[in-house]
Amino acid sequence: MMISVAEILAAPVDDAEARRQGIGFVDGSVPGYVLLLGDDAEAAPALVESLREKQIAVFVLADALAAALEAAGVPLGWDSRVVHRDPQTALGCIAHLAQIFGNANSPEEVLDYARQRLRGFTVILGTPSPESLAVARTAMAFGCPLLSTGDVEPLAVDWDGVVIGNLPPEEIVQTGIEERGLRIHVPLPELPVEYSADFAGEVVRDEGLGASLYGVELTVTGADVVDGRVRVVGPDLDAGLLDEHPYALLVEVAGKNMQSDFESVLERQVETLVNDIHGVMHRGQRANTRLRVSRKSIEKGLRLRHLGEIIHARFHNDFGNILSRVQVTFFTDPAEVEKVAARAQEVYDRRDDRLRGLSDEDVDVFYTCTLCQTIAAGHLCVISPEHPGVCGAQDWMDTRAAVSIRPVGPNREVKKEGLIDARLGQWESVNRIVQQESGGALTAYSLYSLMVDPGPACG
Ligand code: SF4
Repeated sequence: MMISVAEILAAPVDDAEARRQGIGFVDGSVPGYVLLLGDDAEAAPALVESLREKQIAVFVLADALAAALEAAGVPLGWDSRVVHRDPQTALGCIAHLAQIFGNANSPEEVLDYARQRLRGFTVILGTPSPESLAVARTAMAFGCPLLSTGDVEPLAVDWDGVVIGNLPPEEIVQTGIEERGLRIHVPLPELPVEYSADFAGEVVRDEGLGASLYGVELTVTGADVVDGRVRVVGPDLDAGLLDEHPYALLVEVAGKNMQSDFESVLERQVETLVNDIHGVMHRGQRANTRLRVSRKSIEKGLRLRHLGEIIHARFHNDFGNILSRVQVTFFTDPAEVEKVAARAQEVYDRRDDRLRGLSDEDVDVFYTCTLCQTIAAGHLCVISPEHPGVCGAQDWMDTRAAVSIRPVGPNREVKKEGLIDARLGQWESVNRIVQQESGGALTAYSLYSLMVDPGPACG
């Protein structure tokens, strides 16, 4: 029998504990919760471990599953965020969090806040029973889709929500994350060298050079992306890759909110992310990218895998609102590099085609880009349909997409206002933002002149 919202709201909940644990849901350190039901005790420990790795809280609602977890050595309790509760108390706890943190009073407000901000999903491991289905159906009011390894779909045909059955156990967590749009924080990997923005502008000179690569980088939306998979195809940094040895970096991403317009925005972030690694110098974009790594860092154990792990973690943490899977492959085998380069050129051409036919006259806003201030203080580009960034990798479409992904980031919108000179391409609004964003290094910016107030080059 389904539990009514009134019964859930009346559930006995430890208020102090709920406040303590609820902070994590609000600040994002706990991305969401799972209501765990079913009779497949064997599958429970691996599933719960996978949820714990992603900091997702687990309410274990079946005694048999709780016993199996204890027997497998999984600690139960709030410290491990795996708590054994009855269904009414578990949902009561979620409702209580909505009351505390959402200032929600009526049942409708409670459910609304829970659906929007306290994201969870229900999992039935094994064969669904009438009792477990009733709980799952009740949880749908809280926005929880039902995922199961069992055949649940025929039993839930008229349900008002997402029901997915016959899932392999290893796909449940990722499916739940994507269905509910949970933002997972991925801890940065352990590196044999330091990782800090202090190293962003580091130059790796010839005297200390351990590897020098030249090649192509591509970020695309993939179909069969295995989150966290990082591969190196060909020799690694310790194999003496010098004299601009060819390489290709392929980053494949997937996510419910991912759009192809976002690919180039993500691709351009690679420079910032890997430049923070001590002893790594990344310059360029697309098919004109240089990667130089110091001998000392290689001797300390730095490998391409570490760069891939950084990209995986930072993409999740910085762009978790649009993607949920990231797979990274480095190619240093020249034959493989050529294949990726050919594929990349097709993608670049397609991206460039989007802007054909669009002129500066047709739009009301331009965008600024300050991404390269990490390597060139005071640098900035103003980007319009006819005036891409000096790197050639950021055009008007890219920056428009970047602002929609990250309103507070290296790109800002600037309205075309107060025309000063149509021939030079100067506007009052543009000059104003240029002065602000360059910290006063620039006072005017011509979009169409190389002689009068041209934009700077970042090297
Ligand atoms: S060169 Fe300009 S447009 Fe390109 S990334 Fe750097 S600041 Fe942005």
